[in-house]
Amino acid sequence: MSEARTTVLLDGRALAEKLRAEWVPQVEHLAGQGRRPRLAVVKVGSNDAAHSYIRGQQRGAERWGIEVAVTEVAPEAGERGVRRTLRALNDDAQVTGILLALPLPAGMGARTLQHEIDPKKDVEGVHPENLGGCVYGRYGLLPCTALAVMALLEESRLPLRGKHVVVVGHSEIVGKPVSLLCLAQDATVTVCHKHTTDLASFTQAADALVVAVGRPGLIRPEMVKPGAVVIDVGINAVADASAPGGTRIVGDVDPAVATRVSALTPVPGGVGPVTVAMLMRNAVLAARGVPSPDDPGQLPLFQG
Ligand code: NAP
Repeated sequence: MSEARTTVLLDGRALAEKLRAEWVPQVEHLAGQGRRPRLAVVKVGSNDAAHSYIRGQQRGAERWGIEVAVTEVAPEAGERGVRRTLRALNDDAQVTGILLALPLPAGMGARTLQHEIDPKKDVEGVHPENLGGCVYGRYGLLPCTALAVMALLEESRLPLRGKHVVVVGHSEIVGKPVSLLCLAQDATVTVCHKHTTDLASFTQAADALVVAVGRPGLIRPEMVKPGAVVIDVGINAVADASAPGGTRIVGDVDPAVATRVSALTPVPGGVGPVTVAMLMRNAVLAARGVPSPDDPGQLPLFQG
């Protein structure tokens, strides 16, 4: 007889609301001092994906009481024009946070342009100085999706110390920082990627499995350890004639995995909403001044 298991669906929308409730008083406190957080979004050319990304962030910011100003740069201005705009925003004392909407027009390098952003205004946490903080445990503005994963792991109530965390995908903004943040919590971490042979042999050993690849159905039920916690970061549009627009969003993990694990994030409604909340949290941190590494106020990681 198979063991009856109750799987907790880790509700990202509820967690995002909880974060908002915790952090909005700080927004209002800053506003009371004439320092309401103001986010500058740099948009280069017109692109549907970049447009919908900006709309998502604008909706989130409105709900947090954070101001958003979109600066448009013509693609003809080239990287030099984008760089000039970013530098002007770095120097603008009214602007407390900056983000560069992706994707950029073909031929423009997102990474080098993101590195132009003042690390203290880098609300996406993608500047080398902020990413480097993950290595040294000097947490300033950390990458939003990695923060979302850590917050959802915390929600699962699995203490990471001594546990085996397997991270599938090693991108700079998700897999790598998540690995380092789990290591900082004394987990034993294995990182898998495209060249990992026999992926299942690793995922089956995971007490906590974080999947950030962008391949629907990559993780099937037989690939997970019974009782594990699974965080599905993937966002994939798959054809579905019955869905509005003919596509629906799925993650990297087959939803049937829910029959084996103790906790799982749904897609949509898992990591996504928490990522937006973490961007807003970073926007508040940037506006109030990112704590120094010695400031006890910055620990634990998610405290306001
Ligand atoms: P990325 O930069 O494309 O990285 C994907 C990673 O997956 C790479 O490290 C790649 O390894 C690895 N990979 C590719 N094929 C693999 C395979 N068959 N087995 C194991 N690993 C494989 O993507 P990302 O920015 O990290 O995003 C990953 C996914 O998360 C995407 O679906 C993205 O849309 C989603 N995402 C969601 C959120 C959210 O808020 N929910 C935020 C960010 C990203 P190599 O480098 O060796 O090729």
